[in-house]
Amino acid sequence: MHGWTLIEAAEKVRKKEISSRELTRAILDRIDRHNPKVNAYVTVLPEKAMKDALACDEALHKGRTLGPLHGVPVGLKDIFCTRGIRTTCGSRILRDFIPPYDATVTDKVLSSGAVLLGKQNMDEFAMGSSTETSHFGPARNPWAFDRIPGGSSGGTAAAVAAGLCFAGVGTDTGGSIRQPASVCGVVGMKPTYGRVSRYGMIAFASSLDQGGPVTRSVPDAAMVLSIIAGHDRRDSTSVDLPVPDYLVATRESVKGLKVGLPREYFEGEGLDPGVREAVEKALAVLTSQGAQALEISLPHTRYALSAYYIIAPAEASSNLARYDGVRYGHRARCDGGLIEMMSRTRAEGFGAEVKRRIMIGTYALSAGYYDAYYGKAQKVRTLIWRDFEEAFSKVDVILTPTSPTPAFRIGEKTGDPLTMYLSDIFTIPCNLAGIPGISVPCGMSKEGLPIGAQFLGRHFREEDLFRAAAAVEREIPLPRVAPMGGA
Ligand code: GLN
Repeated sequence: MHGWTLIEAAEKVRKKEISSRELTRAILDRIDRHNPKVNAYVTVLPEKAMKDALACDEALHKGRTLGPLHGVPVGLKDIFCTRGIRTTCGSRILRDFIPPYDATVTDKVLSSGAVLLGKQNMDEFAMGSSTETSHFGPARNPWAFDRIPGGSSGGTAAAVAAGLCFAGVGTDTGGSIRQPASVCGVVGMKPTYGRVSRYGMIAFASSLDQGGPVTRSVPDAAMVLSIIAGHDRRDSTSVDLPVPDYLVATRESVKGLKVGLPREYFEGEGLDPGVREAVEKALAVLTSQGAQALEISLPHTRYALSAYYIIAPAEASSNLARYDGVRYGHRARCDGGLIEMMSRTRAEGFGAEVKRRIMIGTYALSAGYYDAYYGKAQKVRTLIWRDFEEAFSKVDVILTPTSPTPAFRIGEKTGDPLTMYLSDIFTIPCNLAGIPGISVPCGMSKEGLPIGAQFLGRHFREEDLFRAAAAVEREIPLPRVAPMGGA
């Protein structure tokens, strides 16, 4: 049953073919068995989950359901605040932090009737592409344990791919939902900036961060997005627009859909030939069903990574100033004064990658360098935004690879931050422009590792992405869960 889709599981509980307790027990047993190896969860909540499952079963017995995910066990990236449940953001500095409130995403997931299994592993403060910067050790790719599951939502993608939950919610600042989904062979979607509330989602780079679904099917992702999307007055950047029925879009034909292929994304030498081939297959599926392929150009793509690695660290350096040992989180033992306590707290509490970003960001924002770096990066951001606007005057969606390569080996890139940063070359422009993006499995590499195709769409047109991705999923059937050595 661990291979069921979210929608299947929800239906079986609703029809009383299985109780929420049986389902939750089965997944908790799987977590017991596999989490020591996969390290997808940093916190598992067996008692709470079973208690909630019991409450779901009792409610159903009385003919009541809480919502569309009634009784189905799910997980959350450990970046979403959960009231009374520790929320670490993958960091030592928040290792013992217990939030007094729920994030809006947490609240919406729980109100839909889902049972929370636990909090999922991630790169520290979502900075990374491999989950190797986590204070809790790396998560592993269920398809090959010596490989990374991507990052920063690597624990979430690994859990979904290993059958350790029916769905998860991750966050994406520069690719952190889509890249892990791609390398773990699952579906990951980053909604339009403003679609999903950021309230209670621990901030990395506030103008780029967005929460979104990680699931085993495209309709599942559509279902989760319908649940977590919507206006929230507690997040001033959340947008007050009606939330469409995304599930309907997954059943629509792609006939007449105009698919743009950005030249710049396919010509670089870093693109693995196997990935290129798989993405071309995804395109062939679409055109065989009446979609129309068009070559387009996004000329400022080559500056996206540089702009991102100024803007994201600049915002992070400001957001992370609050971790000073005074109000919450880790505090260093220290007999010195306040300044010494703060600086020791931060020295002990943050890992190397987070410190690197804080230093880059602080430097880029400092007087005398602000215009040369931060101001310039913002201008580049506008140019990238305009590239997409121009492209979307000709096409409905854009098709690209999600990640330039399948999952790399654990340890392979930790020594060289720049090569690590290159893993997000295809995902980052989307965040800079605020547009939605989805990664859908489209093939397997020669070594048997999953490959993902990425669709990008117009602002607030997530439906177009679901429509295109669902067509690929229907025509290129791939295993939903990793074999995990037959276990
Ligand atoms: N890997 C990118 C980074 O390290 C993106 C991370 C993310 O989307 N949270 O910044």
